Amino acid sequence: MSAHSLPEGASAWHSLEVDKALDLLDSNAESGLTSQAVEQRFQKYGPNELEEQGGRSAWEILLDQFKNIMLLMLIAVALISGGLDLMAWQAGNLKPGEVPFKDTIAIMAIVVLNGILGYVQESRAEKALAALKKLSSPLVRVIRNGKMLDVAAKELVPGDIMLLEAGVQIAADGRLIEQSNLQVRESALTGEAEAVNKQSTITLAEDTSLGDRLNLVFQGTEVVQGRGKVIVTNTGMRTELGKIAALLQSVENEPTPLQQRMTQLGNVLVSGSLVLVAIVVIGGIIQARGFSNLQDLLEVSLSMAVAVVPEGLPAVITVTLALGTQRMVRHNALIRKLPAVETLGSVTTICSDKTGTLTQNKMVVQSLYTNDQSLRVTGEGYAPVGEFQLSGNKVEVEEYPAIPSLLVACAACNDSVLQKEKGEWVILGDPTEGALVTLAGKAGIEKDQWNSKLPRVSEYPFSSERKRMSVVCRVEAIATGEPSMTSVDPAIASFVDSEPYLMFTKGSPELILARCTRIQLNNQAVPLTEAQRGQILAENDSMASKGLRVLGFSYKPLMAIPPEGEDEASETELVWLGLVGMLDAPRPEVRDAVQECREAGIRPVMITGDHQLTAKAIAVDLGIAQPDDRVLSGQELQRMNDQELEAQVDLVSIYARVAPEHKLRIVQALQRRGRFVAMTGDGVNDAPALKQADIGIAMGITGTDVSKEASDMVLLDDNFATIVAATKEGRVVYTNIRRFIKYILGSNIGEVLTIAAAPILGLGGVPLTPLQILWMNLVTDGLPALALAVEPPEPDVMKRPPFSPRESIFARGLGSYMVRIGIIFAIISIILMEWAYFHAKAVTGEGLDPERWKTMVFTSLCIAQMGHAIAIRSNNQLTIEMNPLSNPYVLGAVIVTTILQLMLVYVPPLRDFFGTHYLPLDELGICIGFSALMFVWIEGEKIFFRLMGKRSV
Ligand code: ATP
Repeated sequence: MSAHSLPEGASAWHSLEVDKALDLLDSNAESGLTSQAVEQRFQKYGPNELEEQGGRSAWEILLDQFKNIMLLMLIAVALISGGLDLMAWQAGNLKPGEVPFKDTIAIMAIVVLNGILGYVQESRAEKALAALKKLSSPLVRVIRNGKMLDVAAKELVPGDIMLLEAGVQIAADGRLIEQSNLQVRESALTGEAEAVNKQSTITLAEDTSLGDRLNLVFQGTEVVQGRGKVIVTNTGMRTELGKIAALLQSVENEPTPLQQRMTQLGNVLVSGSLVLVAIVVIGGIIQARGFSNLQDLLEVSLSMAVAVVPEGLPAVITVTLALGTQRMVRHNALIRKLPAVETLGSVTTICSDKTGTLTQNKMVVQSLYTNDQSLRVTGEGYAPVGEFQLSGNKVEVEEYPAIPSLLVACAACNDSVLQKEKGEWVILGDPTEGALVTLAGKAGIEKDQWNSKLPRVSEYPFSSERKRMSVVCRVEAIATGEPSMTSVDPAIASFVDSEPYLMFTKGSPELILARCTRIQLNNQAVPLTEAQRGQILAENDSMASKGLRVLGFSYKPLMAIPPEGEDEASETELVWLGLVGMLDAPRPEVRDAVQECREAGIRPVMITGDHQLTAKAIAVDLGIAQPDDRVLSGQELQRMNDQELEAQVDLVSIYARVAPEHKLRIVQALQRRGRFVAMTGDGVNDAPALKQADIGIAMGITGTDVSKEASDMVLLDDNFATIVAATKEGRVVYTNIRRFIKYILGSNIGEVLTIAAAPILGLGGVPLTPLQILWMNLVTDGLPALALAVEPPEPDVMKRPPFSPRESIFARGLGSYMVRIGIIFAIISIILMEWAYFHAKAVTGEGLDPERWKTMVFTSLCIAQMGHAIAIRSNNQLTIEMNPLSNPYVLGAVIVTTILQLMLVYVPPLRDFFGTHYLPLDELGICIGFSALMFVWIEGEKIFFRLMGKRSV
């Protein structure tokens, strides 16, 4: 048998009956494959994975690195500099000991290095993203060895029995065995956006086109509604999607807004430097002081062009963003789109689901209301052990037939499975339903047994829009003990007369009650009075206001199976059974996270499908809302137009009984009010809201594949506190990026001005060669900048309001700081340069070169940056107020860089290569003294701003 080429005798899976397909694949619809068969098939067919295809080739990635305007300018500088050297060499004008083409080689080396670095980083980033993709790779529910279990999608093999439900992204191709209202969106494969209704019972002509193969499902497509059971026919590259693997959606790797702005900045810097070069050349020619020939002027221009390019910046930014994503993953926040790292810090409003995100999603039923009586249920977790109590006294369930009747509905209208694993009771499926199976178990009503007494024949599945679900079961007669006499179980005897089918409907109590016309009282269905309705709703409110999640239950005897898709008409004239209230305790860490949000100027908002009072009780408990705050319900929201909603969104912190489409309107309204919105979601219909939100957040555990695909970030632990932690990291990343941009660009401006000043002041020659400038930009600026990138959060990072994501990178004083510090930097260097020039010419001695003034300028520029790095660690705290070891990297980078710089001056071979000159210690001391002025100035600024009562952020 071969699963990829069809088995003998079969020409197309869609032309086969289900049984034939099961036969050919040697599998069983009820028990699935055995572990042994799975193992064998895995060996044979390999993992169910698509090989990555398409994308850029290694060459293309490498070439892309050179599409950067700053690098192109450096290449131009290298070529011109090479030309000058060639002329000097041919004319025999080289200075003694000078190595020709040194600058050209050095610049080209930097260009190539930059290219390689960029290449390595991009390839690494792609690998990291692939690893992240694996982390978020979906689980698939299958039946193996007769048991239901979740396995990683890549472990699927042909013949596996796969279970589908709404929101699932289908992991392999397969033939439907059975389905209920199954709708699948196949746009990934066919381009058709409209969902397709699937049918298991039909067989199709062999030449049926892909889009019309209604009895098959395909890998990569999404279940929009309903449920289904499928036998896997093809996996991996043999699926229809595998055949067109270029379509594979990958984790997106978009440039962040900052990276885009940096590209713009590059353009500005390059054009700015060209203008400056023109000014200097023209000024030099007019003045012709000291710069007798064009070559000198060209050299100045080249140095300025190199000085203006922040060669180290792109690498530092990439590293910072990458470190940011890593730190976030450690906090359980998985970034799917890189811009989110940077923009998370700007979030002003977090709209969060309640169940599972703010609460633990561990449901325990606490109370029942049936047959006019309120009962308490004891017990913990999912263990089916506990008592039913009436006014504090234990009751025997058998004596109260209303209880087993309600519990049968709980067990029958239920898709979850309760299992004992390693001695612990766990549920597979929705915790709400798990709690109901546990509840039934406490009265000895076991779901499995009831599946045979009431086998399910049809259903209308749950959705967040419908807020209810129904199952239709066939009433099976059981042996009574007397020969040839059969009867139905007493727990359902009162539900039917002679009807062969029973429908159970459960869901939001108001909705279910509105569909009921009768009520089950003392084992009889009697007309439901208005007073009883009022009483039930009052009880519902009373349970909800204690924070309980309440479900209503009903049944309806049927003569025939109702038609598919006719839920509105079929779920009417129901018989009311009772209420079940379950507790879903808030996550303990969320209270602090909410408080942290408030202090950070972020407003948490709860959006839930649950009841208003339940939502409010939990929101108040967590500090999201005050007891008298307004709760906006989905119904009210529905009636509002966009303007009315916009007027409310800044005031309301709880939205209850909402449907997914309301989430989209809430995000849009908040965005129109200028808010930067993070929004959580898990369902298939949450995808539009997640896409619309500035940061769409999917749930890692309970989230559907579709919601994850639409998100910017996935919460691996589904926890609200994780969003807050990620927001904090986002702020830290952004603050650090701003910090080293200030640091690097301030220094570049200082260098350019100092170089430009030399010809204007009439000093002969260029103070800094391109090679020395590259050294400064990459090493003496680059190393401390990298260290600044990992600066720990300032204590007030979550005590200030968020920054607008639309603000310019130069906003809040960054631009003026750069220019101001650049000018101070230049003034200090120019004064030193002027003094050193005359001093070096005047003081002569053995080993002392009159050109050593250039080395004094070079050294003091580098050392001044060390003081700058130390001082810039905080905008407000003085250096002496900070712990130097809180970021030991800065201290380390400063020490290493200073030693390296001194080696350039005092190690003869390095001196020759870098074109520096020996400095006597007193002159070195003067350089250090001048450099220290930079540190003094920045610290002085901090004191000044403090006295003025201004805080810089
Ligand atoms: P959140 O959006 O905070 O996660 P939620 O999980 O409570 O909220 P939904 O899952 O959309 O929201 O549930 C909405 C309502 O639908 C619930 O309050 C409950 O009344 C009903 N409900 C939930 N689960 C089921 C279910 N399995 N069967 C029937 N009704 C359900």
